[in-house]
Amino acid sequence: MSNKMNIPDTGQERIVVIGGGFAGIEFIKKIRYIDDYQIVLLDRQNYFTFQPLLYQVATAGLEPNSVAYPFRRLFRKNKNVHFRMAEVQEVSPSHDLVHTNIGQLEYDHLVIACGGQTNYFGNNPESMMNLKSLTGAVEMKNAILGTFEKALEADDPEEREKLFNIVITGGGPTGVELAGAFGEMKKFVLPKDYPQMDFDQLQIILLEGQDRVLPAMSEKASAEAQKYLEQLGVKVRLNKMVDGYEDDEVQLNDDSTIPSKNLIWTAGIKAIQIPGLDDAVQHKGNRLVVDKFNRLVGYNNIYAIGDIAAMLTPDTPNGHPMLAPVAIQQGQHLGENFLRIARNDEFAEFYVFQYRDKGTMATIGRNRAVVDAPYFKMQGTLAWFAWMFVHLITLVGFRNKLVTLIDWSYNYFTYDRALRLITTDKKLDNKNEKARKTEAAEAV
Ligand SMILES: Cc1cc2nc3c(=O)[nH]c(=O)nc-3n(C[C@H](O)[C@H](O)[C@H](O)COP(=O)(O)OP(=O)(O)OC[C@H]3O[C@@H](n4cnc5c(N)ncnc54)[C@H](O)[C@@H]3O)c2cc1C
Repeated sequence: MSNKMNIPDTGQERIVVIGGGFAGIEFIKKIRYIDDYQIVLLDRQNYFTFQPLLYQVATAGLEPNSVAYPFRRLFRKNKNVHFRMAEVQEVSPSHDLVHTNIGQLEYDHLVIACGGQTNYFGNNPESMMNLKSLTGAVEMKNAILGTFEKALEADDPEEREKLFNIVITGGGPTGVELAGAFGEMKKFVLPKDYPQMDFDQLQIILLEGQDRVLPAMSEKASAEAQKYLEQLGVKVRLNKMVDGYEDDEVQLNDDSTIPSKNLIWTAGIKAIQIPGLDDAVQHKGNRLVVDKFNRLVGYNNIYAIGDIAAMLTPDTPNGHPMLAPVAIQQGQHLGENFLRIARNDEFAEFYVFQYRDKGTMATIGRNRAVVDAPYFKMQGTLAWFAWMFVHLITLVGFRNKLVTLIDWSYNYFTYDRALRLITTDKKLDNKNEKARKTEAAEAV
């Protein structure tokens, strides 16, 4: 088998995994001890990102290292697992080949797990901030903290208003959690750091296109979340969508505008596109249609798991929700099926994927969260503890769990956020530059 990535040719069946997110790493964890397989993980980053806590990095609550974990460390004891930091550009199923920016690689089985990217729904991503990557989260923190430094110098009231309006578009869990965290900063942290500034002028505005925040959760959860946000001073504006953003003006669908230099886009997600696959597998939002084993329809040796997979069933006519538990369960389930193949069992109807929905949750500042579980719903302090527990146990690595627990305890007892460093040499222009370039390239 020829390859150009210095992957040894061992005679084992080679499984190439594109993307080490929740789905990819759970899949590899299941099969890493099976000698029949050589596993090659390709990812454009050298670490796993725990995306649900990125908003805490962006709001100075957690350090970036706590929400990331290097792949080489994760799989260092597994000699049959190889990692290459590579961006996959195309696949050639007729030749069983993956093309990347560092060369090409043959596979026996291909698992596509490269997740999602921000969907701007035709809006120009230039000048907006997003929260899809660790780099994006750090840049957002730098930009927002830089805003307060600039506001301190601004004499012109119009300029100050633009700096002091933080507009978040998208009232899903990410937008709500981000808005809540900024609300807490406004209430507890910023007045102490900048005693000469009037933070009543700081507006955190959350825009949601539907008639309630957290539209995918229960009405009770939406109502409580909105109440909690308003208690933190967040202005929630429902049935509002962004039509454009130019010259520091956010244009809304009702023809009104909001002056702002800080527009954060959390309003949508679509899958990352991998060229080379048949049109027949393409579904809405770049997702790939899979059967009940997560095998791409029309292909025998290509699979898709996680956000990128669309398993279309009567219960899930548009595929499963793009959530971490779905990705985790699909990764584990496909791994179990590969274990069965290694034992010479066939895929049996018995082993089709079934999603076990354990519920959804969102937190809105200290002591406030909403949880919709299959058999109960809860809000308030108990929900907040449940949210913290679930996120803590799901974080990868003991150090990350420990550091996160320490940071959270510190923030809780001191009402402070210790990580308010502006860590960039670049001129602060509130543009999510690297993330934006990546998104723009992907959008082509
Ligand atoms: C800000 C934010 C908050 C979220 N909060 C929650 C939450 O609270 N609860 C919840 O359940 N879900 C949440 N989600 C969704 C959840 O994170 C995703 O559903 C989950 O990460 C999907 O896992 P995945 O393995 O499919 O993809 P990902 O975790 O996105 O991993 C994809 C991997 O593929 C790599 N990759 C992408 N393209 C390429 C390429 N061309 N070549 C090589 N590598 C590539 C990426 O670098 C990445 O490592 C959140 C998402 C975001 C962005």
